[in-house]
Amino acid sequence: MKPHMEVLIIEDNRINLQLMTYLVQAAGIAVTTAADGERGLELAALRRPDLIICDVCLPGLDGFQVASALKAQPELKDIPLVAVTALAMPGDRERLLQEGFDYYICKPIEPEHFSALISALIVRRKRNG
Ligand code: MN
Repeated sequence: MKPHMEVLIIEDNRINLQLMTYLVQAAGIAVTTAADGERGLELAALRRPDLIICDVCLPGLDGFQVASALKAQPELKDIPLVAVTALAMPGDRERLLQEGFDYYICKPIEPEHFSALISALIVRRKRNG
């Protein structure tokens, strides 16, 4: 098992990024951040985080493109990938899961729900790691 767990957050909205960073760090988990998809992919390859949280509407590569790029790489495809999205229609959520995301969280972020999901995924990751 790695000495500490690390989450990569890819989000272009500064307020949301600050909130998610705060909540993840409050759970004792290290955070790396990227404000666009290209940088997010770079950091994913570099850091091999335990979990990736990715906004869907991003400048440049969007969340769907980030997901397909991650899932195409053997060394990155097993990292749990969580979408954060304002897409609210049931069809949108299905599309997220079809296109490579493992979980999704709806915006606006509800802190207790967000923290509970992230903690559960990290605990599972630790157990398997
Ligand atoms: Mn966005």
